[in-house]
Amino acid sequence: MPMQAFSYRDGELHGEDVPLSRIAEEVGTPVYCYSQGALEARYRAYVAAFAGQRASICYALKANSNQAVIRTFADLGCGADVVSEGELRRALAAGVPGRRIVFSGVGKTRGEMALALKAGIMQFNVESEPELIQLSEVAASLGLKADIAFRINPDVDAQTHAKISTGKAEDKFGVPWTRARAIFAQAAKLAGIRPVGIAVHIGSQLTSLAPFEAAFRRVVELAGALRQDGHDIVRLDLGGGLGVAYRDETPPDIGEYAAMVQRVTSPLGCELVLEPGRSFTAEAGVLLAQVIYVKQAEERTFVILDAAMNDLIRPTLYEAWMGIVPLRQPQPGTARIVADFVGPVCESGDILARGRETAPLAAGDRVAILTSGAYGAVMASTYNTRLLVPEVLIRGGAHAVIRPRQDYAELIGLDRLPDWQLPGQNRGSA
Ligand SMILES: *Cc1c(COP(=O)(O)O)cnc(C)c1O
Repeated sequence: MPMQAFSYRDGELHGEDVPLSRIAEEVGTPVYCYSQGALEARYRAYVAAFAGQRASICYALKANSNQAVIRTFADLGCGADVVSEGELRRALAAGVPGRRIVFSGVGKTRGEMALALKAGIMQFNVESEPELIQLSEVAASLGLKADIAFRINPDVDAQTHAKISTGKAEDKFGVPWTRARAIFAQAAKLAGIRPVGIAVHIGSQLTSLAPFEAAFRRVVELAGALRQDGHDIVRLDLGGGLGVAYRDETPPDIGEYAAMVQRVTSPLGCELVLEPGRSFTAEAGVLLAQVIYVKQAEERTFVILDAAMNDLIRPTLYEAWMGIVPLRQPQPGTARIVADFVGPVCESGDILARGRETAPLAAGDRVAILTSGAYGAVMASTYNTRLLVPEVLIRGGAHAVIRPRQDYAELIGLDRLPDWQLPGQNRGSA
């Protein structure tokens, strides 16, 4: 990343020009902080890398769908990849024009299809034959035609965590690439469908180019066969999945990725769609937390934070390694300890980092959990009746709360008592 979004200055961790302790004091912890400069830098790096190719960049909203984050990208001309009615509404509300929106996902309903058709989206990525038939019906009933790409399952191993691998034959995603020609033939006959391309997305947090290249070669080969069958293949959607460095990974840089894409796909002369999610936002965010207690158990030291698995589930769900650093820079030469960073949630799995070397910490100290801008806040829940975590956007020396912390009345007020439990009712058994 060309800009260093989070760095120590005068011994204090800053986000751009703002000391993060200031945000922690004003908003409280836990809180997610994002650097707008870092978000913009990532988008611009993609644009620069793909400058010689006709590529639409459609940010995969599910990585971080705060309105202010989407708006940051939309203001630069970026499109959106959405996977639900909610995300479609978020994209439109943040100012992404319909013609820059791609709709992915295995379970689109009639209602979602109709909404997207009326919004005039660029393309549906269709993942099954029943979906194809239903989409044709919905489009025809509205007097429209849906531009579609088939998401094919190329059956390649993305060499990533099983829970974020999507391109193996055993995964639920896409249509088997071996069935693609039959499905295209069927699609070409449907009244509400205009088949325009092929889509592929094999997984997330890929740290090598080889699985991408294997998948893209399969797509190109298939596109050639489909053209011979008489289909007008004009668009290739290459999905997202580029990894980031959480620890010591060395993901391919965007320039190498773009060069490989050009090498593999340029003979077809297709328009490209790219759907980056994680690589747009992960490194632009941190989660701030405060130490509640340091608990010395017989065999281990537990640093108990006020952030937990409900705020950031990646370590629990994907066994993800996330860097944790104190907001106040330790003096050089400070002896280090080994500790487990855990949250207050009543689950043994509520561990943010295990056996981690750290400068000694005490109650009241604050830390930042690094590289938390993707699949962090969006996966937060209120488990253990903990308030949904707030978010802050930083730009230069300014910061703004882009999602305030819920309050307890709001959270508990979502529930309703049935009338037979209201005061004055006979609450005994019938
Ligand atoms: C999740 C997803 C993406 C984004 O993946 P990242 O690994 O975050 O880049 C792109 N396309 C589709 C279809 C997805 O499901």
